[in-house]
Amino acid sequence: MSNKSKRFETTAIHEGYDAKEMLGSLSTPLFQTSTFTFDTAEQGERRFAGEEDGYIYSRLGNPTVSVLEERIAALEQGERGLAFGSGMAAVSAVLIALTKANDHIVCSSGLYGCTFGLLTMMKEKYNIAHDFSAMDSEAAIRALIRPETACIYVETPINPTMKLIDLKMVSDVAREFNIPVVVDNTFSSPYLQQPLELGCDVVIHSATKYIGGHGDVVAGLVVGKKDFLDSVAMTTQKDIGGIISPFDAWLLLRGLKTLPIRLDRHSDNAENIFGKLIDHSKVDRVYYPSDPDHADYPIYKKQMKRGGGIISFTIKGTKKDAQFLLNKLSFLKIAVSLGDAETLIEHPATMTHSVIPETVRNQMGITDQLIRLSVGLEAWEDIWEDLEQALNQL
Ligand SMILES: *Cc1c(COP(=O)(O)O)cnc(C)c1O
Repeated sequence: MSNKSKRFETTAIHEGYDAKEMLGSLSTPLFQTSTFTFDTAEQGERRFAGEEDGYIYSRLGNPTVSVLEERIAALEQGERGLAFGSGMAAVSAVLIALTKANDHIVCSSGLYGCTFGLLTMMKEKYNIAHDFSAMDSEAAIRALIRPETACIYVETPINPTMKLIDLKMVSDVAREFNIPVVVDNTFSSPYLQQPLELGCDVVIHSATKYIGGHGDVVAGLVVGKKDFLDSVAMTTQKDIGGIISPFDAWLLLRGLKTLPIRLDRHSDNAENIFGKLIDHSKVDRVYYPSDPDHADYPIYKKQMKRGGGIISFTIKGTKKDAQFLLNKLSFLKIAVSLGDAETLIEHPATMTHSVIPETVRNQMGITDQLIRLSVGLEAWEDIWEDLEQALNQL
């Protein structure tokens, strides 16, 4: 059943699944199987030859996973989706598929730590170079493009400083050079930002975050043009093998049904917490995309529906004070990851971004005073009361 004409909230619940084909089961059945039986040897031959549709082996395709792939493709307005066992399995499958030895990648300055690690490994092993760019003007991007540039890789909002990059501008420049633009859309989810609509070519999610939404699954998703994703499916997905388990796909299908309402509530709560944080005497700066005083607010207006659930802020004090603040919280959880029902708080300089050399980290704005908050779905007043009592002890 195709619901491509339906609105986002409806697509998130129905796309890619027809209960009539599954004995009327309302919930998508969980095909917890590694392999699929053939009626005859000849049928097996036809399946392997691609002459007959049908499942063969779960690394090559699984019915529960297929529903998820169709659903995320529709939500991101792409032609095909692919699911992976983690966000990093998705990132590596895409970047390895797009590059060969001695190529070059232009990336946003500010990348998920393990993506940075992957790029470093690709440089060391295959001499695939990369340059970082603030991507704050067309000229800044153009200046870095070389004949061997294989792709432009962008994260926006950038973790954890919440700087934004104008995706339409990046894709316009990339098109002049015929270079694909890959966007890690984890922080926004397709509900808040749709890079393919802005001219980008490939979208990646750590579905561990907002798409799963309940802190109980690690998974990744990729959406893009059918030709490219067909090639990923037949190469880096099939042969490197970082596939999702059917059960994790099932959990993501459940998570997706409430993605729009969760993201609206995350955003409502974050707006309220933002309003309180900016007025607190122990807080120095607060970074949130939909803040009209945010330097990138014009970009926010162009490409994001709402501000989402992540706020970063700096406190007046030292690293010890930042750690003291975290230790004084009563029910807010000290944890990395984000996008869960529970509010999570972390100290990027010593946790998610600790691998980055201190001077580079400071240039990126990830100082010892910076704290990242993933605002959950609790009553925002309770979230604030816990944060406030800890701030007041500084
Ligand atoms: C978490 C995250 C990843 C990696 O995803 P995993 O599911 O942990 O492998 C990639 N990009 C961003 C922006 C993330 O937050």
